Amino acid sequence: MKQIEMAVIGAGPAGLGAAVEAAGHGVRVVVFDENNKPGGQLFKQIHKFFGSKEHLAGIRGFRIGAELLAQAAELDIDVKLGAVVYGLFSDRQIGIVHQGVKRLYQAEAILLATGAAENTLSFPGSTLPGVMSAGAAQTMANVHRVLPGKKVLMVGTGNVGLIVAYQLLQAGARVVALVDAAPRLGGYAVHAAKLRRAGVPLRLRHTIVEVRGKETVERAVVAEVDENFNPIKGSDEILSVDTVCLAVGLSPLTELAWMGGCRFKYLPGLGGHIPVHNQNMLTTSPGIYIAGDIAGVEEASTALEEGRLAGTAIAERLGYLSFEQAKVKKEAIRSRLDQLRTGPFGAKRKSLKETLVKEWI
Ligand SMILES: Cc1cc2nc3c(=O)[nH]c(=O)nc-3n(C[C@H](O)[C@H](O)[C@H](O)COP(=O)(O)OP(=O)(O)OC[C@H]3O[C@@H](n4cnc5c(N)ncnc54)[C@H](O)[C@@H]3O)c2cc1C
Repeated sequence: MKQIEMAVIGAGPAGLGAAVEAAGHGVRVVVFDENNKPGGQLFKQIHKFFGSKEHLAGIRGFRIGAELLAQAAELDIDVKLGAVVYGLFSDRQIGIVHQGVKRLYQAEAILLATGAAENTLSFPGSTLPGVMSAGAAQTMANVHRVLPGKKVLMVGTGNVGLIVAYQLLQAGARVVALVDAAPRLGGYAVHAAKLRRAGVPLRLRHTIVEVRGKETVERAVVAEVDENFNPIKGSDEILSVDTVCLAVGLSPLTELAWMGGCRFKYLPGLGGHIPVHNQNMLTTSPGIYIAGDIAGVEEASTALEEGRLAGTAIAERLGYLSFEQAKVKKEAIRSRLDQLRTGPFGAKRKSLKETLVKEWI
């Protein structure tokens, strides 16, 4: 079994942010990611981030990912790709399959930064080729440069639905409509405005009822819903589409935290069951930290800052930072997180995160 100081599971913004922060203070870090390309979701994000300069506003997501990777290389961080972490066992042991070989590592501190998985939806025809998650469509278009289809229906108006719909439009697809059963948009008005300016209809209180097609998607049936989200009889409309993208929420990938014995709290506003953690991103299992979407689904910028917070706390735990040095750094990061958690969406997330911290005590 190999001994390491800090193991990071997941090379998205949270994992890389933590690794760079901790390694910058002298911690020896190994990062594991099951993908062959690091960066998590960042490499799909071709749009510019917003917020302030401190939050990397104006920089495109994939460039932020590239910059983090360059910093990781400079700090000599060992990033193992194609490395699936299949288990977290007692005494902070982790089981990995890397390049077909099984290995066990024992770490002094572990950061779980595994992100979130996209939710799905079942309806007649939902298994036809052409029905896919919005993230899959985003990967096809932005990473592999393949347009998933020419006429797209997007289900869901959260930020993922709005952003991916606009990116598909930019890539040359026709976005026939976005539907959402909720009476209000789920994402930021700024993203919706771009679609509206391009003439894309955003239909609230509408849902997908069925997808029709012989071998692939040919048509989608949408309908208006009542206040109980049941389709209203006679309101069916048939849309001619070849692709249906589902952007119906994300659920934190928490399997390793369950295995690690972490205590959980169910908070639907953060994506479901979330490991309880304190202000330093430490879970209720000694030495196991979390950051990013696993700690509650938010955004790439909050994931990066939470990663930095966990990285600082781990550097302190392992003796690379004094209590006072860590305190100054952590307070600066927490203040940036507070700035990110403002506005109607952010303020709600902030109060839910505070619930988790209170539970930890
Ligand atoms: C489709 C989609 C579009 C989005 N668009 C935007 C956007 O435009 N702007 C924005 O701010 N946010 C966006 N987000 C949200 C943002 O990308 C996430 O909040 C952010 O990436 C979370 O960072 P993370 O590091 O927690 O997780 P991720 O970026 O998801 O990274 C997690 C990493 O962990 C790895 N991993 C998971 N389990 C294991 C395991 N067992 N072993 C090894 N590796 C593992 C995964 O392969 C992945 O690389 C989007 C999210 C999705 C799903």
